[in-house]
Amino acid sequence: MADTRPFPHSENIHVLTVPLPGFPDLICSNMFVLGKGPVTLIDAAPKFPGSFFTMERQLSDAGITWRDVERIIITHGHIDHFGLVGQIRHAASRDIPCHVHEDDLWRLSSEYLGSGMWSRDADSFAARAGIPAVTVERMKRRSHFFKNLCDPVDNALPMEEGDTFEGKGFELSVIHTPGHSPGSCCIYERHSRILFSGDHLLKHITPNPFHEVNRSRLRSPEYRSLKAYLASLDKLEHLDMSFAFPGHGDSIDDIKGLMEGYRRHHRERFESVQRALEGRSRSLYELMTDLFPGLVEAETFLAISEVLVHLELLEEDGKARLIDEGPPARYGCT
Ligand SMILES: [Zn+2]
Repeated sequence: MADTRPFPHSENIHVLTVPLPGFPDLICSNMFVLGKGPVTLIDAAPKFPGSFFTMERQLSDAGITWRDVERIIITHGHIDHFGLVGQIRHAASRDIPCHVHEDDLWRLSSEYLGSGMWSRDADSFAARAGIPAVTVERMKRRSHFFKNLCDPVDNALPMEEGDTFEGKGFELSVIHTPGHSPGSCCIYERHSRILFSGDHLLKHITPNPFHEVNRSRLRSPEYRSLKAYLASLDKLEHLDMSFAFPGHGDSIDDIKGLMEGYRRHHRERFESVQRALEGRSRSLYELMTDLFPGLVEAETFLAISEVLVHLELLEEDGKARLIDEGPPARYGCT
């Protein structure tokens, strides 16, 4: 069983938890069950061996079966949030409606997952960043492994900001909070004032506003993930929240304090990226090795993404500039 403290009790909300092997920072994956009689699920953990049955046991302890599930709401299109949808539908013997923001719909498709989650866009990103070929090959293999942690959901339904879902004892509304992914959403429950925050707010680590490699999938080519992420934090600032129930790890009570900590983290990171550019031009890969010496290779994409999202905003502020298109592209101070 994952090492998490119990969530605060809330009428009509059950928390199901599975460990996440290989992701020590994320601790565990959480799934939330809302209502009585017909129930609504928020998120559907990754498909690790045994995770479905772990969830099923916890569900049956609450006196609920998969057949009681009326709908599944996915906070965002990452595999560790929709991995079990296929198995849950199979166990319920019907295609339970599954909702995800339209900007992340493609991530659930067999067309994308069948490609091993690696695209032409990813190839040009790797070349532009200056990642060595041998590392790119390992990144591709890792990406192919990840796709095995979910089943595709080709008939997911698009949801948008302001959509509402109701059931016995709960009233949910969708708040679009892009940044971690373009289609990331938080789901707000009006009576308990609980925010189901997906990966937008996490207690133990700062969420990654992942650089969106698949630029051709974006509705807005201007999308910058960190800029969107910080705007999404601001969007929650005046929301009346009792707790946040995140997709991983423990519940969050000091939400404002947590968000302020994230903003501080990003301010510090802006400064360190700017300092690393002083007096010389660097590729993204070089910047990454300067800023994260001794990083394990499996973290390459995460670290490059972290550098790039800050660099994009430094460029926008006129504090950094593209010196050479490359590939690899080289950046410098202004
Ligand atoms: Zn995620």
